[in-house]
This record gives sequence, structure tokens and C-alpha cells, in this order.
Amino acid sequence: MDQILRPATRPVMEAIFASQRAAAQADPVVPRALRADRLTRLETALTEAAPALIAAMSRDFSYRPAADCELFDITLSLREIRHARRSLGRWMRPRQVRAPLHLMPARGRLMPQPLGVVGILAPWNFPVYLAVAPLAAALAAGNRAMVKPSELTPQTAAALEAAITTHFTPEEVCVLQGGPEEAAAFTTLPFDHLLYTGSTAVGRKVAEAAARNMTPVTLELGGKSPAVLTPSADLDRAARRIAWGKGVNAGQVCVAPDYVLVPRPQMARFVRRLEAAFLALYPEGAASPDLAAIITPRHRDRLRSMLHEAETSGAEVIRLPSDAIPAQQHKFPPTIVVDPHPGLQIMREEIFGPLLPVVPYDTPEEALTFVAVRDAPLALYVFGTRREEIDLWLAQSRSGGVTVNDTVLHVAFDTLPFGGIGPSGQGAYHGDAGFEIFSHMKPVMIQPRLNAGRLMEPPVTPRKRQLLGLLRRMI
Ligand code: NAD
Repeated sequence: MDQILRPATRPVMEAIFASQRAAAQADPVVPRALRADRLTRLETALTEAAPALIAAMSRDFSYRPAADCELFDITLSLREIRHARRSLGRWMRPRQVRAPLHLMPARGRLMPQPLGVVGILAPWNFPVYLAVAPLAAALAAGNRAMVKPSELTPQTAAALEAAITTHFTPEEVCVLQGGPEEAAAFTTLPFDHLLYTGSTAVGRKVAEAAARNMTPVTLELGGKSPAVLTPSADLDRAARRIAWGKGVNAGQVCVAPDYVLVPRPQMARFVRRLEAAFLALYPEGAASPDLAAIITPRHRDRLRSMLHEAETSGAEVIRLPSDAIPAQQHKFPPTIVVDPHPGLQIMREEIFGPLLPVVPYDTPEEALTFVAVRDAPLALYVFGTRREEIDLWLAQSRSGGVTVNDTVLHVAFDTLPFGGIGPSGQGAYHGDAGFEIFSHMKPVMIQPRLNAGRLMEPPVTPRKRQLLGLLRRMI
């Protein structure tokens, strides 16, 4: 692993936190112009640093296609920033709320206010986007923020720190370097909100540390996201989009299709089409320039050992070629594993790599139960052409989000909230949802001069009792 540049010590973190908290308390009202200015500075920081960030991501992964870095980390981050800036007027406006009958003619409103100081812990798989997208939401909501990128992408983290330092004072936004030890210390700071993206196991520790300070958390975690083919699914289309969703970032995506459930009669045909789809996308297999490498040799070894266990248990394995890979690149070929036993590691743990188990089912009920008895996943993909088959899955399955007849893309549908459920996460962000998690949506009731408040005051006269009886029937 590359060395982490200047890991932040606890006293440094505490000092920066104290300065951000003091600045937030000194200026509790953050006008629209200042929020827009911070978003513009973030946009400039990202645009100026884009070439350095793209080069750093490619080095951190040992190989990552520049087009992927550009699209998934830079362009999507810019979209979040610009969408936030365009939405500021609408987001910051108090929402009028109708008073209930028993309090009329009072008026009500929800008034968004900044929370103060926000902590953001980012993972390595989209090291820029998963730091910048929550940061854009936090700044739009008028907060100050401290960001701790992953130690597994140290060069990207350093480039991000340099970009942010050029355009922000540490009292506004700062990027702190460090590994698990520094990350654990970071989570003990009494943030006004903490957003963590990463594994469920570490998410649990983050939630525990935050609970000690009563810090509210948003946990963006992972899980085994299934792709389900209903009997009416178009096999070619499903194969192509599932292969694409699994190939992006070499499967190192929180919402990558983890395994595929296929009606038994279509199984053999689907597996052939899936292989053809992978080959069409990555004709040179692991050596294809469009396939990212696995983040570290340790992560690649884990995939190898999962595959080895499945193969020795008798599962059929279909690999794309994996020769001609430059020695310094930790690449792994897209690989299909046909009908592995549910007890194997590949069917128990989130794969987070380009291995794709394909599992047959006999009835829709069996497939629904297969998903329902496992942890609720972050995403679910349904492929089908008959409305009632799709509706059955939408109504009867649980997952953070769903894309119908495609994979992964609901993440980029940033006018929809994005988040998990149960072990795959808590809370959601993107678009309006992001602004709201980083704001206190303060409920305000305004009592007009003419009101019924005195009805509740003692002494309770017979006339008041009569009116209260009438109220009970009306509400
Ligand atoms: P990870 O949990 O190992 O690390 C993420 C961050 O947590 C890093 O910054 C790390 O320094 C920090 N960390 C490590 N130990 C910590 C501790 N004890 N306390 C606090 N922080 C600590 O996750 P990862 O391996 O980088 O990412 C892979 C996982 O993230 C997968 O499960 C994936 O599904 C999930 N993920 C989820 C989303 C989402 O939006 N829901 C996005 C990307 C990745």
C-alpha cells in the first residue's frame, strides 16, 4: 500500500473541529450567495484538479480507465455540485405547511437551517465522487465539513486535499488523511451529522462511535444486490446490461449486481448470452483497456480464493481470458460462476469484484424467498417485459432502491433519494434528500392574534366543555 501522506493526529482533528464549530456558531445564518460561492469554489477545485485526480485514481488502482474516472468521479461530482447550486433557491425557501383543523387559523412552516459541522468518511471505490457528492450537499445546506478519504487511495486523497486547500480555508472545509486508526478517531468528534460510506462491518463501528455523542448518522453501506430475470425477460438485453453493471469499476461498486436469479428453463441460454455480453464489452478479457484493476493484491487474492472454493465445490466456472496483463496491474477477469452452493463464501459475502454467480429458480415464490431470507440489499434489478411480473417484485421485495430493466443507474438518477435499508444502510442523500439530511428542517408554528388557545385554559366552564365536545367530533 502506498504511504498515507501526513496522517492527521487527534489534536489536529480536534483543533480543526473546534475552529469549524466556532465559525459555524459565529455565523449561524449562511446566505444563499455564500452557499453558491462555496459550491462554485468546489466546482473550480474539481475542474482544475481533474487531470491530477484522474492520474492519481489510475495509479491508486494500479490501472483504471481514464474514461471511468472522468465519468463516474469527475462528471457525476460536477453534476451534484451544479444541481445543488441551481436548486439553492428552492431548497432554502421555507416550506409552508397547512395547519390541522384544531389549530386553525395558525400557520406552519418547515424552515431549513444549517446543522453546523458535518463529517464525511469516504471509501476507495469512487474516491472522488463519494467524497464530493456528500460535500456538495453539506455545503448547499450551509454547513462546514471535514472529509476523511480512504487510505487505500492515498494519491487521490492527497490530490483532493491539495484541490480543497487551494479554494477553502480549514474553517470551511478540510480534508484529513489517515487509515483506520485516524478514521476511528475522526468518528469520535461530536459532529452535527456524520455521513459514512463503506462496508457494513465498519458502518456498525461508526454508528456506535457516533451514538456516544448523539451524532445523527447517514450510513451508505453495501450488500449482495440481486439481478432477477422474470420469465418474460429479454435475455439479450438483460445479459448485456448485467454484464455492463458488473464490469463497471471491475465490480467494485456498492450497487453492482452481485448475483443473478434466472428461471431454470432459461438458465443455459442466459449463461451463454452473458458470456457473449462480457466478451463484447471486454474482448481481451482482463487485459481489456476498459476494465479497471482490483484495488489491492489482497482484494484480488480474496476474489481468487472465493472462486477457488466455488470451483473445487463443483460449480461450473466460465472465465474471460486473463493473459497479457501487465505485471504491475492487479487485474481480474470477468468470471461467471454457474449455480454455486448457497453456503459458499461467494454466496454469503458481498463479492465486490467481477465474479458473477448465476442461480436458477423454479417459481417466483422461490426466488422472492431466496432474496427475502438474506440481508436486505442496497439495490435490486428486475428484468421483464410483463408488467405484473415486475410489479410482483416491486411490491414483495425489500431493497434500498430498484432499477427496472437495467442495472446501477438509479444511483445517477439524483432527483431520487439514494440509500440502503437495514444492513445496507440508513438514511439517504442525493438531490433534495441530500439537502434535507444536512439541514435541520425546523418546524415552526405561528399563532395569529385571533386563535382558540384560550379554550384550553382553565377553568373549564360548561360552555368550554361543550366546545371541546364539538371539537372531538370534528377532528
Ligand atoms: P471500509 O468500510 O473498509 O472503509 C471506508 C472508510 O472507513 C475508509 O475511509 C476507512 O478509513 C474508514 N474506516 C476504516 N476503519 C474504520 C473504523 N474503525 N472507524 C471508522 N472508519 C473506519 O469500506 P471500503 O472497503 O473502502 O468500501 C467497500 C464497501 O463500501 C462495500 O461494502 C461497498 O458496498 C460499500 N460502499 C457503499 C456505497 C454506498 O453508497 N452505499 C458506495 C461505495 C461503497
